[in-house]
This record gives sequence, structure tokens and C-alpha cells, in this order.
Amino acid sequence: MGKKKITVTSPLLPDLDAYNELLAKIWDSKWITNAGPFHEKLEKALSEYLKVPYLSLFTNGTLPLLSAFQALGIRKGEVITTPYSFVATTHAIWWNGLEPVFADIDKDTCNLDPARIEEAITDRTVAIMPVHCYGTPCDISSIQEIADRHGLKVIYDAAHTFGVEIDGESILKAGDMSTLSFHATKVFNTVEGGAVISGSLEMKEHIDHLRNFGFENEITVTEPGINSKMDELRAAFGLLNLQQVDKAIEKRKKVAERYREALKDVPGIRMLPEPDARVKSNYAYFPIFVDPKTYGMTRDGLYEKMKEHNIYGRRYFYPLISEFSPYSSLPSAAKENLPVANLAADSVVCLPMHQNLDEEDVERIIAEVAR
Ligand SMILES: *Cc1c(COP(=O)(O)O)cnc(C)c1O
Repeated sequence: MGKKKITVTSPLLPDLDAYNELLAKIWDSKWITNAGPFHEKLEKALSEYLKVPYLSLFTNGTLPLLSAFQALGIRKGEVITTPYSFVATTHAIWWNGLEPVFADIDKDTCNLDPARIEEAITDRTVAIMPVHCYGTPCDISSIQEIADRHGLKVIYDAAHTFGVEIDGESILKAGDMSTLSFHATKVFNTVEGGAVISGSLEMKEHIDHLRNFGFENEITVTEPGINSKMDELRAAFGLLNLQQVDKAIEKRKKVAERYREALKDVPGIRMLPEPDARVKSNYAYFPIFVDPKTYGMTRDGLYEKMKEHNIYGRRYFYPLISEFSPYSSLPSAAKENLPVANLAADSVVCLPMHQNLDEEDVERIIAEVAR
């Protein structure tokens, strides 16, 4: 083999000297967590960069999902969600004692199909938790219209949607709340980290208390909160990464454009449609869908063949969340209920997509897929 290993993601890392300088400041101040100066700076910088007024930093991208239900006072009932996501999306529903109900996705976006959401609504439905899968915006106006008509809350798992805008407006403003993940594998990372984006100062303050055990002040606990605070070491890391994230997205864009051009005529390989001109993309993932009949090889065949050549794609999102044992016996998890999601899960491979790919890497990947 002998060829360099190419992984599906590669973390954005700050310059080590610059990071050391910030660490020295933390060592001097001895303020290492609990709303320290770097935490406050990062919260402000992110809310400016993302064009959202109310952002609360978290220690990862899962606790924001859990906390969003708590913040909105959603304590019982059914939540309609997508099976085509990272498993944390459904876990967050379960951890709140709520009942996940899976609805099918749209083939061209891999996001919840509004018509399927509507069909899944019962008198027990309390909320919808869609995912902007791969960074492609959901049909937010249809989803809002449905939610308004039925009196439902909408919490977006926006883990893939760092920096995505429509007509210059952040996608993170959609619904009642959105959550982000800043995990190492994401477009922007703080090693581990995340955020909740809410719609008002009151709600942001509520969430800020929730992530700190429910403390409103030194002697007052107003609700059963949790600990999900971001520390100073990771906030400083994030501040440096934020300075280079535009360059990283630009690099991803070039890779995506090259993939698109090179794979457009390969029989049996389907790509998602290009984002429409109103959308500012972040090029978070590059999924392709394999049709074994016309491609001449199964998805797993391609996945294994790439691995043999030291190219590591990932089958996001296979298996579907609805196939995992905690959820597979739910009525809505039945394959017949989720034909589009099942087909996507069985045919998808995400190609390597990150800022550290060079031209040679990209051509090697293309050669392997187009062969
Ligand atoms: C990454 C991710 C999460 C979880 O984020 P963590 O920071 O790893 O906890 C949740 N939902 C989706 C869709 C994700 O991709």
C-alpha cells in the first residue's frame, strides 16, 4: 500500500505557539473554568460570527440538545425526529423522558420531509426535532407552518450547520432553538464543545443557569440544572480556531467543487443537488450514494475498496438511529415507515472532507470512486 492515510475528517487545530501564549495567560490568571474571560470572549465572538444575538456555550454538542427540552419546559409527549442523523439526536429525546417518533426524510436533502412530519402528528405530539443534515438547511418555513398550526415547539439539531446562512440570515435563527456541536470532527471545533442558540435574552439567561446546575446566583438554585460549562482551555482553543475557520471552509469548498466536477458522470454515483444560490454553505460533508446496479459494486464494496487503498470514508448515517436496539421496537422505526432513509443509509458513503486534504489526496479519492 505505502500510501498516506486519508481520513474522513481532520480537526482544525490552532497554531501551537499562539495557543501556548493563551495557555500562559490562563496559568497566570488561574481562572480555568466557570465563565472565565476566554469563555466570555468566545461566546461574544461566536455570536457575532454566526450573526445570532443569544448564544450559550456548552461543553459538548449533546447536552445542548438535552437542555433545549428542559429550557422549553417540554416534559412529556412525543417528539417527531429524523432517523437519519447521529444517534445523539434521538438520545436527547429519550433522556428527557419523551417519546421519539421517526418520520421519513427527503431524498434530495436527507432532511425530514414536512409531509411525513405532518402525517406523524398525534394528539400527544409536543415538538419536532429536525436536523439540518450535512449542513443542508431544512425546509424551515414548511416546518414552522406545521408547528404553528399544531402548537408544537421546534428544536433544530444544527450540529452540521456552523456558519450556514440563507439570504444572509443565519439558519440558527429558525425554530424555537438551535444547537451546535464543536466536536473535533466538525467544521469548527473546540476539541469538545457546543452551544444553544435561543431567541431572547430571557431564554439565554435561563439556559446559562441550566448549564450551571440551575444556579441563578451564589445562593439561589431555581431549577434542576446540569453541569455543561465550557472551560477556559477549550474556549481559548476555539478563539484561535475561529480566526481560521473561513479559510478552512474555503478549502472545503474547493474540494467539494472538485468532487462534483469529477464524479458528475460516474454511473451509479448520486450526489446531493448543489445548494441553491441563496444558501451560504459550509461544505461540512460530501456524501455520495451508490446504486450497485449501475455502479457495478455495492456501497460496502466501495467503502472496503477505499479502505484497502488507505482512504477512510464513513457511512454517515448507517445504521439508521431507528435500527439501534433502544429504538428499533418503536412502531415508527419500521422499515416500511422509513423507505427513503433506509435507502440512503444503505447506499451512502461520505468522502473525506476537511481543510487538510491536498490536491493529490483529492485526486486519489476520485480515482478510487470513479474507477
Ligand atoms: C456531532 C453531532 C452531535 C453531537 O455532538 P457532540 O459534540 O459529539 O456531543 C449531535 N447531533 C449531530 C447531528 C451531530 O453530528
